[in-house]
Amino acid sequence: MELATRAVHAGRDDLVALGLHAVPLDLSTTYPARDTQAEAVRLETLATGERIPGPPVYGRVGNPTVDRFEQALAQLEGCDDGVAFASGMAALTACLLAVAAAGKPHVVAVRPLYGTTDHLLASGLLGTSVTWATPDTVRAALRRDTGLVIVETPANPTLATVDLRALADACGDVPLLVDNTFATPVLQRPAESGATIVLHSATKFLGGHGDVLGGVVATTEDFARRLRQIRFATGAMLHPLAGYLLLRGLSTLPVRMKASSQTAATLATRLATHPAVSKVHYPGMGALVAFEVTGDPREVVAAVRLITPAVSLGSVDSLIQHPASLTHGVIDAESRADGGISDRLLRLSVGLEDVDDLWTDLSKALAIIEG
Ligand SMILES: *Cc1c(COP(=O)(O)O)cnc(C)c1O
Repeated sequence: MELATRAVHAGRDDLVALGLHAVPLDLSTTYPARDTQAEAVRLETLATGERIPGPPVYGRVGNPTVDRFEQALAQLEGCDDGVAFASGMAALTACLLAVAAAGKPHVVAVRPLYGTTDHLLASGLLGTSVTWATPDTVRAALRRDTGLVIVETPANPTLATVDLRALADACGDVPLLVDNTFATPVLQRPAESGATIVLHSATKFLGGHGDVLGGVVATTEDFARRLRQIRFATGAMLHPLAGYLLLRGLSTLPVRMKASSQTAATLATRLATHPAVSKVHYPGMGALVAFEVTGDPREVVAAVRLITPAVSLGSVDSLIQHPASLTHGVIDAESRADGGISDRLLRLSVGLEDVDDLWTDLSKALAIIEG
């Protein structure tokens, strides 16, 4: 079946048999069991990260509503399994802990990356180390203790793209982690190009309405088991209500991505000829447009009235922010330059508003810094 169809039905296959239309939301933190001995065996198995049928014993270990979202997202990405977390950063943390726990704490990463991802790798807060590479130098940067190669494409915030097939080849046996937050499975399925791990900040397009925080990893059965083992012990479980909202978000993801991508492409074209814009970054797909301005980008953020001046992205409303100050303010100027992030860059996440209304707002704001 086509992706638009799967987006609506994935994770819901059993509903008709249950006599239900909406997905059941299970808010239980614990699950009663009279047979303590049997429950002990189940819990021991769950601690290894294995999936087993029946209730999850305790809410931190698993949740039926979250399960549905995990299965649906994995299906859309064309992966065996999915594991959901309380945020995108919690998902990335679990991936790093999983490879470090297996004795491979070295990471090769391609800039630019989401600012906090760059910060987490550069700071070594989790005991990992990083070698920064370009797609061409990844192969040479691999070591015996390299556990992951990490890339974003299109990347946050410059929308730089990477040839995933070529990069996956360069990685050899080392798992390639692709942060697919910007493209979503609607526009790109990295597993089809050889990625082992596909990560999302579900907070963005998957939720789609700016009202739910979450992260999810679509991957192989084996790596998913290791991630659940980490999640069992460290506790960054996705809240069931978030799981419910994210599953609902998936059903409209294809139409939202199609509509906002079309608007983004039009805005990118118009921005390219605006006298206050010196450079437009648009990879020809997706709902994000980045552009460099001739004056102070913070004045543009202050001047918009329809577009929301805020970090984050992927909501039904359009959002604009200044990466050098905010999303990428946590990394130093040298690292930003290394990732090609200009101080004059603005990042626009295009929502579902009318394209001409957005252009009116944006061009008025740009006129303030013109000349
Ligand atoms: C927002 C974002 C993250 C972090 O996700 P949270 O849900 O905020 O923790 C990771 N990667 C990318 C590309 C992002 O845009």
